[in-house]
Order: sequence, then structure tokens, then C-alpha cells
Amino acid sequence: MRAAVLIEINKPLQILDLEQDPPQAGEVRVKVKAAGVCMSDWHIMNGDWPLPMPMVLGHEAAGIVIETGRGVDHVKSGDHVIFSFRPHCGRCRYCSSGQTVLCIGHNDTPRWRMHDGTARVRLNGEPVNQMARIGTFSEEVVCPSEQVVKTRNDLPFTHAAIIGCSVATGIGAVIRHARVPAGSSVLVIGCGGVGLNIVQGARLAGASPIIACDLRDNKLDYAKLFGATHRINASSVDAVKRAREITGGLGVDTAFDAIGSEQTALQVIDAVAPGGRAVLVGIPAFATRAPINPSQIVYGEKMISGTYYGSVRPNIDFPMLADLDMDKKINLDQLISRTYEFDQINEGFALMRAGEVARGVIVFD
Ligand SMILES: [Zn+2]
Ligand SMILES: [Zn+2]
Repeated sequence: MRAAVLIEINKPLQILDLEQDPPQAGEVRVKVKAAGVCMSDWHIMNGDWPLPMPMVLGHEAAGIVIETGRGVDHVKSGDHVIFSFRPHCGRCRYCSSGQTVLCIGHNDTPRWRMHDGTARVRLNGEPVNQMARIGTFSEEVVCPSEQVVKTRNDLPFTHAAIIGCSVATGIGAVIRHARVPAGSSVLVIGCGGVGLNIVQGARLAGASPIIACDLRDNKLDYAKLFGATHRINASSVDAVKRAREITGGLGVDTAFDAIGSEQTALQVIDAVAPGGRAVLVGIPAFATRAPINPSQIVYGEKMISGTYYGSVRPNIDFPMLADLDMDKKINLDQLISRTYEFDQINEGFALMRAGEVARGVIVFD
């Protein structure tokens, strides 16, 4: 079983042969068919999120169930599934209230091991961690069954894969978290995989204008394709000032930060109109701090909120997003601007970092 393993930060992933145990009670084995290349993997590779290695990376993926452990009854062999990178115990206060992305039911074991604390993959007999308990840059994944969601069989695997992270996070941020009303104005800072999905989520919600901001013109061209009505290249223009001009001076109703840096967090807070809402979506490096101006929050009655994983409920929202895609209400075909073979995975990260792709997806044989 081959998997892409991070052995050391700031080094390429290594595709290695690993030993894999069969699924235990409550677990499944999935043959991975497609896996997206995401900035979150890169945050681990570059040390922004210091996590224990060796670790199989990858968390945005889809595949076919090939084996189920004891007690698994919601999926069976042959089912097409989308991986969820958050567990869902179904019992804790957050699962019970529908905020499943905040599940605390398994907080007593590390997020890179199975729920009993042990590993299912090994390298030369030593345990190897799995990012988010899945680690989908892998020909086969054994993981908790609650982290796979059955999907319709006619959905292409590449589309299913990206529903599991960037599509859920971006569209969910708009329709599940911020609940953007039709006709309200939206600013999106950062037009990578998540940002482009915020743009198309805003289009789905009927927002107008939809202002996209990035440092690269090719990303802004993508944003137009997914529904942006206005584009700001922040390398040459003051993004906040320009967003205010476009909205008649007040600022936007909702501004999304898809980057997760000090500067972009401050920009989205500045860019919202009085009574508006700044939404933090991109996950910052753990050490990031941003000096907000509390008086403008008070005088302007501004709201700041964070959304993790688009605040989605995977069991409900992944099938909904699959239907939207098959009904051509959202555009995933053009979002997947590049596919790779597994052996090209490090090239996939290089092109993502260079801003050359909307979303790149690895396709497995
Ligand atoms: Zn991701
Ligand atoms: Zn829970």
C-alpha cells in the first residue's frame, strides 16, 4: 500500500510502501480514487502547524469502500464515499446540537490516530500518523467509519474529492455559516480553492456585488468565472478602499478572509459596513495574532466570526453539494483545473504555491 508521507518539514513528500492493518470495529477501509491538493497539507509540510511525523498527509478525497469492520452499518463494500476530516461522535453537546465540526467526542486521543489511540499504518514496524485520522494521499485508507459519507455513484470521484474540503468550506461559509442574503454585498479575499468556492457560494446565494480580491490576475480571472462581479488586484490597489468605493462608500455586508493572515483578517474587518460581518475562513498559522481596532467594532456594531470547515454537517451537506453539482448549480468542472498522477504529488504542491491552479486533484488508478 503506497502513501505520501511527510518525514520532515520543508522536505518533499515521499511516496513509500506502508504496512496497513485491516479495519477494526467501527472502522472502514477505502480505496482512494481521487484526492485534492490543499493548502492545509502545505501548512503541515512547512511547519505552520507543528504536528508529529511521520504522517500521511491528505484530507480532501473520495473513494470506494472495500472492507468494513465490526458494527459498521451505514456504509458497505462498493459504496462511493467522501471523506470528512472531522470526526462525528454523534453524542457530544456539539454533535447533538448539529455543530458537528466542533465535535469533542474523541478529544482524548490524538487527531492523527484512530479513536483507540493506535495507528493502522506502519513503516518498518513503526507507527505512522494519518492527517485528521484519514491521511488520504494513500492508495487505501483505514479510518473511523464516521469520517466517510456515502455519496451518489454518478458523481465523478474528482468532484466528490473536493466536496470533502474546499467546496464544503467555501460554499458552507456562505450558506451555512454566514447565511448571506440575496442582494447583499460580499467581498472575498483570497481566490484559491476555498476562496473560489466562497465566490460561487455567494453567487448561489444571490449576493451582489461579489467582489473578489487576490494578488494575482489569473486567480481573479478564475473568480470571474465563478461569479465575481468585481475584481481587485491588491498588489497594486488598496483593497479596503476599493471595496468601499464599489459599495457606495459604506463597505460590504459580508467580507470573507480565505487566506488566514494577520493582514487579511484586519482587511476583512475594515472592509465591512457598519452592521456587517467579517468571516474568518482560512486557517492561520497557530502563532498568528492580529491587532483589531475594538472601537470600530463597537461603533460600527460589526460582527467577527470564524467558520471551520464551512460549518457544514457532512452527512447532510455533502450529498446536497453533490446534487447541486450534478444539477449544474455549482461549477466543479472548471474548478479542477489540473489533475495529477500520484507520483506527481510534489509538483501539485509546487503549482498550488505558485498560484498556477484553481484546484489540483490527484487521480488514482
Ligand atoms: Zn483542505
Ligand atoms: Zn461529537
